[in-house]
Amino acid sequence: MQTAECLEQIAPYLFATIDRKRDDLEAQGIDVISLGIGDPDRPTPDHIVEAMAKAIRDPKNHQYPDYAGSPAFRVAAAKYMKTRFGVDVDPDREVLALIGSKEGIAHLHTAFVNPGDYVLAPSIGYPVYSIGATLQNANTYFMPMKEETGFLADFDHIPAEVLEKAKIMFLGYPNNPTGAIAPVEYFDKAIAFCKEHDILLAHDNAYSDLSYDGYVAPSILERTGARDVAIEFFSCSKPYNMTGWRIAFAVGNETAVQALGKVKNNLDSGQFTAIQEAAIAALTGPQDCVAEMCALYAKRRDSLVDALHAIGVECEAPKATIYVWAKVPEGYTSESFAAALLEKAHVIVTPGSGYGPDGEGFIRMSLTTPDESLLEAVNRMKSAM
Ligand SMILES: *Cc1c(COP(=O)(O)O)cnc(C)c1O
Repeated sequence: MQTAECLEQIAPYLFATIDRKRDDLEAQGIDVISLGIGDPDRPTPDHIVEAMAKAIRDPKNHQYPDYAGSPAFRVAAAKYMKTRFGVDVDPDREVLALIGSKEGIAHLHTAFVNPGDYVLAPSIGYPVYSIGATLQNANTYFMPMKEETGFLADFDHIPAEVLEKAKIMFLGYPNNPTGAIAPVEYFDKAIAFCKEHDILLAHDNAYSDLSYDGYVAPSILERTGARDVAIEFFSCSKPYNMTGWRIAFAVGNETAVQALGKVKNNLDSGQFTAIQEAAIAALTGPQDCVAEMCALYAKRRDSLVDALHAIGVECEAPKATIYVWAKVPEGYTSESFAAALLEKAHVIVTPGSGYGPDGEGFIRMSLTTPDESLLEAVNRMKSAM
């Protein structure tokens, strides 16, 4: 049996390899603490679970869902965009429910990318931006992303022959994995660039509501002209501790939203309506649960950053996201430092190189580990390193 050629080009999923290493150590009876994957440790807030419990008993929710998302879900998403960002979107034409934003991002390639085309992806980024291209037999051009320029992906030096075939530019700020945030002028520049070159600008805004020190992240759709070229992805996963529920939405340029919807109509039949009901409770209900999570993550961030500084690891306290992005010490690569931390401290971190070429020389640590475990991990790193 022969699998597709594009499949062979995909390295094993980053976290799958790390999970296997952890399983090996745990099989030897060793307690391993993972700061690897970004998956909120706290439960989904009660009022959201209650909404689901109620919805699951309603027989009308037991049938096929509306493919684009229930009208009520799309209205809730539009309401969220209005109250949170002051952005008006048409729930009928400019909003699409997703089975997690990863699903939507992956399928965006099917809607816009032909074999041999290019996707512009940040050189440090969420892997599906480029893997989606690979699955379309298309290419990825990695836009440089350097510490000196605040980890803002550089689209000023893209070769003309790449630009000619470029169909989508992916950006995502607040950024996973670097924790970087983008000034709105950067978004304006990206919008102008994508307009000039007729490229769809896909903004991944999974961390819009997880920010610290008074920083409030924008939607790219707040910016003038964004709707002409941009689609934006929001997810209930991180702010509402709902990673397991698989519910998110895309919003923005009507052509892009409709094209993505057309792909999805033919591939999936939408997310369980009861889950959409829970997401409505999340998006339109009280937001103090999000504020509580931000306070918790900020505290964890501070203790982790302090510990890293104490062992001589360079990093900045991020203003948003649930990650600390740190430089590996002299003499190490991303992978060798991650391996050393696993062997000596039994702590899992993610090698930055797994996020793309410019991630080399960094590691990512996630703040989604319970306080006691995070403290223990910090102590282990201090004594082992
Ligand atoms: C977690 C994450 C997502 C999405 O998650 P879903 O659970 O698929 O909605 C999207 N983009 C980035 C950068 C993420 O870190």
